[in-house]
Amino acid sequence: MANPSILILAGDGIGPEVMAEVKKIIGWFGARRGLTFDVSEDLVGGSAYDAHGVPLTDETMARAQAVDAVLLGAVGGPKYDKLDFSVKPERGLLRLRKEMDLFSNLRPAQCFDALADFSSLKRDVVAGLDIMIVRELTSGVYFGEPRGIFDDNEGGRVGINTQRYTTEEIRRVARSAFELARRRGNKVCSMEKANVMESGILWREEVQWVHDNEYPDVELSHMYADAGAMQLVRWPKQFDVIVTDNLFGDLLSDCAAMLTGSLGMLPSASLGAPMANGRPKALYEPVHGSAPDIAGQGKANPIACILSFAMALRYSFDLGDEATRVEQAVEKVLADGLRTADLMGPEGGKPVSTSAMGDAILAALDASL
Ligand code: NAD
Repeated sequence: MANPSILILAGDGIGPEVMAEVKKIIGWFGARRGLTFDVSEDLVGGSAYDAHGVPLTDETMARAQAVDAVLLGAVGGPKYDKLDFSVKPERGLLRLRKEMDLFSNLRPAQCFDALADFSSLKRDVVAGLDIMIVRELTSGVYFGEPRGIFDDNEGGRVGINTQRYTTEEIRRVARSAFELARRRGNKVCSMEKANVMESGILWREEVQWVHDNEYPDVELSHMYADAGAMQLVRWPKQFDVIVTDNLFGDLLSDCAAMLTGSLGMLPSASLGAPMANGRPKALYEPVHGSAPDIAGQGKANPIACILSFAMALRYSFDLGDEATRVEQAVEKVLADGLRTADLMGPEGGKPVSTSAMGDAILAALDASL
């Protein structure tokens, strides 16, 4: 069988710096675990614009469609702020998500014990937290028509966006949440606003349909999204997998992410339909941006990007044990007190650079064998 293939799009700012540490980890798997990946690299965002005048070329898009998984660093930076909207760095990322039809966005909120005091919530509320928010990514109010700003014919204007979901759009993201739950705590909580929105009523009915017909073994509950937001900060450990639409998912996933502390710690996955080989179309990326304020200084925390690769091991390559190995190596270096600048809290720690953090994780991986 051919080696699994990965396309690395490191992007701009700290993207290449954090991705350099991921490449070390990929190399480690080849050398120490006999897991060799066919890795290729290309440009996205501002770096692609500098080279080709567009934030993603057709050739790069075709390569992304052909590989088993895409790993992306980050895009953007002040240098590109004045560019026309159509060639802004973010357009490269949006094109990837759209053309790969990545409808299921996975945002884990996991609290490493050593960082529990970083959260704005009390330690006992977040310590050991491990939840997954599944956000529908390709439909809903961000895409629905009609949309726009129009004259209201009474001397004023009206702004319109349309929340629109079809049966199949809801069912496919619900399936993705139920599949995930089966690999985790076997619980799904679906969030919408069925009390005030028809699209919310449809959402609730379709999620329930998928449950009753295809996943009756998974525990399902429903919650209004506003109540869900309250529960997330009151008692987040009651959740396992949360599935919700594009708009509510945007808000709830950021809220949940901040339960765990730093932006430099947060991975994500965006998954689409299965390809011919059974693997889902997939793009993995840290939640953070290109952090121009610290780019080029060796200060970036590579853990979000490394944990994104761990998600690729689990969700694209069915190597859950190896993903856990990476996560435990991260946990170990944090427990040993190693901290990039963003993780230096009042309790102190050993300040390390981006590459020293990557090396420490490699050493922890060695120690795991
Ligand atoms: P940002 O995430 O880049 O940075 C926000 C703050 O967090 C900064 O102070 C930064 O130094 C810090 N930070 C972020 N990642 C870090 C890491 N790994 N280690 C240590 N500190 C880290 O968000 P921003 O400043 O709003 O945006 C900067 C650029 O990134 C903009 O051009 C924006 O459009 C772009 N952006 C890209 C993405 C993406 O590629 N997915 C996401 C968000 C923002």
